[in-house]
Amino acid sequence: MRLIDLSHTVEHGMATYKGLPAPLICDFLSREASRAIYAPGTEFHIGRIDMVANTGTYVDSPFHRYASGKDLAHLPLESLAHLDAVVVAASAGRATTTEAFRGIKVRGRAVLIRTEWDRHWRTDAYFEGQPFLTADAAELLAGEGAALVGIDSYNIDDTADWSRPAHSILLEAEIPICEHMRNLGSLPGSGFRFSAVPVKVRGFGTFPVRAFAVVED
Ligand SMILES: [Zn+2]
Repeated sequence: MRLIDLSHTVEHGMATYKGLPAPLICDFLSREASRAIYAPGTEFHIGRIDMVANTGTYVDSPFHRYASGKDLAHLPLESLAHLDAVVVAASAGRATTTEAFRGIKVRGRAVLIRTEWDRHWRTDAYFEGQPFLTADAAELLAGEGAALVGIDSYNIDDTADWSRPAHSILLEAEIPICEHMRNLGSLPGSGFRFSAVPVKVRGFGTFPVRAFAVVED
């Protein structure tokens, strides 16, 4: 059995999304300061992070898009963890269409769309002209009952389309979305399990995850 990491590392000052602030990571209690509290030779570090929800590799719950949608605390683990998964190669060009899913069983599965846009992570190129999923393709995945949809791109939607159809369609169908994934090229096409579990925050729509796959060799 192998575990394959599909998430980016979150670092101080790292921009995930253009226009959103980068995380501020600092000490709440430094090791040095902790020495005054604990027994001699005993020290701890307590970190503090100030970040927007959309940082690093993250999962969107329906609440991100819809006020009455399930928030992170209400997302069932069954929708996030130990999912049967399949990797789908993105269409040539920016838009991944229904054609990409022809002949692929998606019902009840995590569908991970491999665009290889993660090669631009932490460069200016990451923020412009990224690959996305069309509204028709999102309708197909929702209609066929995909469990979760993931993508290794900057946004699952075309950022020039302010109605955000892929988010709207998938989240209305209560299908969580995992964005800013990486390393999808290391996965077999299918026959593996996928997990991407955010912290259970009430009244919150999005949170970073440690997304990973379990591959049985
Ligand atoms: Zn999103």
